[in-house]
Amino acid sequence: MMMPFSYDINPARIVFGPGSVSRVAQELGRLGVKRALVLSTPFQEADAQALADGLGALSAGVFAGAAMHTPVEVTNSAMAVFQAAGADGIVALGGGSTIGLGKAIAYRNQAPQVVVATTYAGSEVTPILGQTENGLKTTVKHPDILPEVVIYDPELTLALPVDMSVTSGLNAMAHAVEAVYAQNRNPVSTMMAVDGVRALRDALPVIVRDPANLAARSKALYGSWLCGTVLGTVGMALHHKLCHTLGGSFDLPHAQTHAIVLPHSIAYNARAASAELQPLADLFGGNIGTGLHEFARSIGAPMALKDLGLKENQLDQAADIAVRNPYWNPQPIERDAIRSLLQRAWAGALPA
Ligand code: NAD
Repeated sequence: MMMPFSYDINPARIVFGPGSVSRVAQELGRLGVKRALVLSTPFQEADAQALADGLGALSAGVFAGAAMHTPVEVTNSAMAVFQAAGADGIVALGGGSTIGLGKAIAYRNQAPQVVVATTYAGSEVTPILGQTENGLKTTVKHPDILPEVVIYDPELTLALPVDMSVTSGLNAMAHAVEAVYAQNRNPVSTMMAVDGVRALRDALPVIVRDPANLAARSKALYGSWLCGTVLGTVGMALHHKLCHTLGGSFDLPHAQTHAIVLPHSIAYNARAASAELQPLADLFGGNIGTGLHEFARSIGAPMALKDLGLKENQLDQAADIAVRNPYWNPQPIERDAIRSLLQRAWAGALPA
């Protein structure tokens, strides 16, 4: 029997392919933007400047101050630059940090956004914004946050370092793995999730061996689009709650944390969601927990939370926070079981 479902599709225009960054001006024109502020992190400033130079009169300049977790002070500075430059639109060039800044501006002034996505994190296709103020991270969901146009140019990912490609790719997979057992899943979200994970499973080992392989880079970016899309359409569960706890309360880096925790959180949920996870387990040798663990190890991913600086004596507190206000989860959330999951992820042990 087909499960009953309702499905809200996020409107999005996707422009995909090598060289597609040259389409930014055309896409701004379609949106009616006359002067776009180009955003990036300090690290990608030269690329952002080159993009702005290529836009000529369509550019209102560059703001290269984007930072992890979208601090509100940075957004306020960018808003001031946006207004002073007479901008009426945004071009965000980068990963989740830069895209987060573009979303934060659009949430405040409804500016149209063209995103040129250069990592696999998936933020560019979600109406979700996480921002931090006074050390607290809060999340908002609103249609104004969703970028109008996303450009995926695999050539721009050739320089994404291998370690970041690996962790960012596993971050993308995490969205899709949780999507297959989401309460509000539907046949299309599951189809996208499984194909997204398959694409990343095939592409990441090639990228590790040959980072400049354009075919593998294209496949990984395609997979990350699918994985990001399901993140934007269905609910996430234990895995994302654990990563938000570790990132928000212990300042652990986003993508690496996802990469380490994923096999453990999914092994925890496999007991309750084995049928839903089966198509993914089949991609990793039959057992989703140990299969993901082996896959992550084989592509050189970080394996232990202790290597990210988390102290063993912080695990009790992490477990306490993670079980507070839990997200819906297929397997009941039990504090002692979560504590032992964290212990294994901390030590880099095999998932239970
Ligand atoms: P990031 O955007 O923080 O990028 C990390 C670093 O890599 C930056 O210095 C960046 O400039 C650089 N970089 C990016 N692409 C590059 C490339 N192709 N070549 C060379 N360097 C490159 O990393 P991320 O993992 O994409 O984003 C993490 C942030 O995104 C977190 O704050 C996370 O919470 C957020 N996020 C949000 C959502 C959402 O839906 N709201 C989804 C996923 C992630």
